[in-house]
Amino acid sequence: MAEYKHVALIGLGLIAGSIGLAMRRAGMTARISGYARSAATRARALERGLVDECFESAAEAVVGADLVILCVPVGVMGALAAEIAPHLASGATVSDVGSVKAEVMEAIAPHLPDNVHFVPAHPLAGTEHSGPDSGFASLFDNRWCLMTPDEGSDPEAVQRLIDYWRALGARVDTMDAAHHDLVVAVTSHAPHLIAYTMVGVADDLKRVTESEVINYSAGGFRDFTRIASSDPTMWRDVFLHNKAATLEILGRFTEELFALQRAIRIGDGDMLHDYFTRTRAIRRGIIDAGQDSAAPDFGRVKP
Ligand code: NAP
Repeated sequence: MAEYKHVALIGLGLIAGSIGLAMRRAGMTARISGYARSAATRARALERGLVDECFESAAEAVVGADLVILCVPVGVMGALAAEIAPHLASGATVSDVGSVKAEVMEAIAPHLPDNVHFVPAHPLAGTEHSGPDSGFASLFDNRWCLMTPDEGSDPEAVQRLIDYWRALGARVDTMDAAHHDLVVAVTSHAPHLIAYTMVGVADDLKRVTESEVINYSAGGFRDFTRIASSDPTMWRDVFLHNKAATLEILGRFTEELFALQRAIRIGDGDMLHDYFTRTRAIRRGIIDAGQDSAAPDFGRVKP
């Protein structure tokens, strides 16, 4: 399958930066052009070699590109698609990396001309850091990239993008957009909201106990604070655009929480033990699937 000759990255933060660096690591010779709205981001992207050239407008960045990847918060994908649409090369593939698929596809697709291919994608890889300094070449290694083409998608364009993501280090799967949104609501979106809430609760408590929450923060709470430091704009947009699936999962979460609360109240140790045995097995499954480390404390503790 032919490599792309010119890739345009729209938005130059964690994900776009990692794409640029992973392309270089893979030995791809494509020219990489980029767009970011702030001059500071554009300058940093050039300094770090995330892209070969940077433009002040997304429209200029996509001229001549055979692959355009939208790497901005999901709430602005539609507006940027409208802006680049008249400047896209005939036959180009337009993709995105948005954490939500159904609503993002609805926002992007109507703007695109008939002579380009639209192949939505979502790499399940990230950190709590953002911006042009945060990207690194190995971010996608062994992580899944989920593609959500629709019935009208050109199979060759889809396969070409699958090959591209594999060359960046990812494993690729395809699925329906609505199914994707439900899966990530369980695995990513609801857990983020729960982390944001737990850290918010601790922050309220801090006013009572002064700095104890910070001083003695350890284990689980530390991991919550890491997740809850994720980019506020990105996550606001994720919740606003994956509303139905996230609310569905949070409803189930609340029911389970009440059940556990009741077990504690009535002293139902068997219920708690069975529940925790089931969740421990899930962790083992994730490790067996090669999606996390079995080392204590995610490898932060050096035995
Ligand atoms: P990021 O590091 O915060 O970078 C976002 C980029 O978008 C920056 O270049 C920023 O420009 C630009 N941008 C923000 N708002 C904009 C606006 N209103 N108009 C034009 N440009 C704007 O974000 P990221 O983590 O790479 O996330 C990018 C996309 O990937 C999002 O859709 C997110 O859902 C998805 N994603 C993220 C993760 C993750 O864990 N972070 C994982 C998978 C997918 P400036 O720098 O100039 O402000």
